[in-house]
Amino acid sequence: MTSRVGGARPAPGGLTPYGAGATTTSVEGVLALVRSRGGRATASRRVLLEILFESRDHRSVEELAAAVQARAPEVHLSTVYRNLEELQRLGVIVHTHLGHGPAAYQLASDAHSHLLCERCGRRIEAPEDLFDGLARAAAERFGFTIDPRHFAILGRCAGCPPNVTGDDA
Ligand SMILES: [Zn+2]
Ligand SMILES: [Zn+2]
Ligand SMILES: [Zn+2]
Repeated sequence: MTSRVGGARPAPGGLTPYGAGATTTSVEGVLALVRSRGGRATASRRVLLEILFESRDHRSVEELAAAVQARAPEVHLSTVYRNLEELQRLGVIVHTHLGHGPAAYQLASDAHSHLLCERCGRRIEAPEDLFDGLARAAAERFGFTIDPRHFAILGRCAGCPPNVTGDDA
């Protein structure tokens, strides 16, 4: 993957070995990226990307499929699934696991890490530099490159008391 469209965000402190997503600010930009990586910019992919740009949030496969079909009823469900797979393979969208629910999709350029409270479900969008120490230690000790964006870090938020479940009578 050497081609980039729309310029790449500089890696802060050079410590983002898991790589920043290609920075693209429009559906056209992403479709250009798709073409530059050997993919096809089809009408159904355009609709899917429009929806991702408009929502700018994490959407499950079901939500995305419903949104695509509301706008373009002729797009078959299997096409939506195939497009999700292919656009991930081409690196323009990514999925993340925010807990025990279904995977959530978003534009690769918006990908980020999360802290998720297991008690109340509060979600904190974590800046990448939060993981700099871990990234450095994992690289130095194991030669391992972490990707903290793929899974949320589960735990307990500041608003939830430690013993709220009373499991420590
Ligand atoms: Zn996954
Ligand atoms: Zn909480
Ligand atoms: Zn998020």
